[in-house]
Amino acid sequence: MPEEPCPHLEAITSIKLPKRRECEECVKIGAQWVHLRTCQLCGATLCCDSSPNRHATRHAKATGHPVIASAEPGEAWLYCYPDDAFLEWAN
Ligand SMILES: [Zn+2]
Ligand SMILES: [Zn+2]
Ligand SMILES: [Zn+2]
Repeated sequence: MPEEPCPHLEAITSIKLPKRRECEECVKIGAQWVHLRTCQLCGATLCCDSSPNRHATRHAKATGHPVIASAEPGEAWLYCYPDDAFLEWAN
């Protein structure tokens, strides 16, 4: 592991993976998404900032849940909103 960039990322010991490969909020409103992110506090899977509704960022702002992981196959990284910190762990 590289040096830990912030305490929120340091506290992550296992990665929460998406329960379903879809944005929980977009499916309710029939919207489309681009990429998926999974909240590492509650496990909600939501859409990225390239998506029209940016549900992952809205969730983080509304709930204060700090860390998301990419829910995309082949991607292995975490992002902390309050610290704007990024951590890749793959390979
Ligand atoms: Zn942090
Ligand atoms: Zn969404
Ligand atoms: Zn959450």
